[in-house]
Amino acid sequence: MQVRFKCSANHHRLAEYFFSTKVAPDESTREGSTSSPDSRAFMVLYTVAVMNCLFCKIIEGSIPSIEVYQDDQCYAFGDIDPKAPVHVLIVPREHIASLADAGEHHPALLGHLLWTAAKIARDKGLSKGYRTVINTGRDAGQSVDHIHVHLLGGRRLAWPPG
Ligand code: 5GP
Ligand code: ZN
Repeated sequence: MQVRFKCSANHHRLAEYFFSTKVAPDESTREGSTSSPDSRAFMVLYTVAVMNCLFCKIIEGSIPSIEVYQDDQCYAFGDIDPKAPVHVLIVPREHIASLADAGEHHPALLGHLLWTAAKIARDKGLSKGYRTVINTGRDAGQSVDHIHVHLLGGRRLAWPPG
């Protein structure tokens, strides 16, 4: 079975590796594989997480969404249950479960998500202001385990949030 992900070449390689009928799971010499059992286990869990991830499916296009913006690093789309006249979700193409899971190689990508939020806000004429929110973890109400920036605007937003 071959599984293909459009959202990230890395996901594509991982899925191809783990679901290829031609390659034994314990083969460690294949390019891109790792001989460490821990990192191999991580890659399996990561691949399963990607395959079950709502936002990865939206990025891939297998679940429909209303596109607002996209580039090689991120995809932005309208929230299905908007909490303000403008409510856009900005997600990286790479699956990162939450801000708490971002690694030392992610600062540029995280900055790009915020830059994208500002660009969309400008394009949508949110000159009076807007809010960017990243819910992290259950206590903050994160309900989808793929990091996303909420861009909210088009009305006065109360502070502090609940
Ligand atoms: P969180 O609660 O994790 O910070 O935000 C998740 C957001 O995803 C929520 O605002 C929710 O309305 C939105 N959402 C959940 N499922 C879907 C979906 O299938 N499509 C879209 N466009 N948004 C979704
Ligand atoms: Zn994902």
